[in-house]
Amino acid sequence: MKLLREWGRALEQLLFPPELPCGLCRERPALDVGACRACLDSLNIRWEKGAVKRYPYFSLFPYQGFGRSVIQSMKFHGRQDIAVTLGFFLGLASREEPELASVDVLIPVPLAPGRLRERGFNQAALLADNIRGVWKRPICRHVVRSRETRPQSGLPLRDRQRNLRGAFALLPGVSLQGKHCLIVDDVITSGQTFYALARLVEQYGGRPVGLFAARTESIRE
Ligand SMILES: [Zn+2]
Repeated sequence: MKLLREWGRALEQLLFPPELPCGLCRERPALDVGACRACLDSLNIRWEKGAVKRYPYFSLFPYQGFGRSVIQSMKFHGRQDIAVTLGFFLGLASREEPELASVDVLIPVPLAPGRLRERGFNQAALLADNIRGVWKRPICRHVVRSRETRPQSGLPLRDRQRNLRGAFALLPGVSLQGKHCLIVDDVITSGQTFYALARLVEQYGGRPVGLFAARTESIRE
């Protein structure tokens, strides 16, 4: 009798697996998208298309309030698991976006070597890896920083452009010719990093488009 009860309980757990905690707050139970209702509401998700000059990009939520603190926890407090949840969201949204159907390759924005050493991981590469969990596209890891740059945040716009001049390069061994290239990063602020990479992709014959988890409300060009 006892055995039967145990078997019954095991079967019940199999049919109704214990709820997983939300991938963002780690407290409340997650819905099937991996985050709880409260976090989803606070993120204020709205899939939006924008452009930096002639280069289009898509983004998921505003870089303010809860959205900003989620990104900062991921980057500065070692919460790499947040990239799993955000990557999943980005993958689902991209998969449904007709304008991204022709994307051939994901290009995570490379982190300056100094920052990579400091942080231990590149959040853009983590996001790209996790996007692939739901939306299969190859990742190009041949775009690199060709020199150290100062952090973009805090620099006036003119200096941001100068700061990034010649900052990225494509390593030999890969061709972007004729490829639709999705440039991936956690947040778009001034748009200058995206612009510099989009130009590089174009120089090598590719067609760039951007994908960002968060956006600042006013992109200055
Ligand atoms: Zn939550």
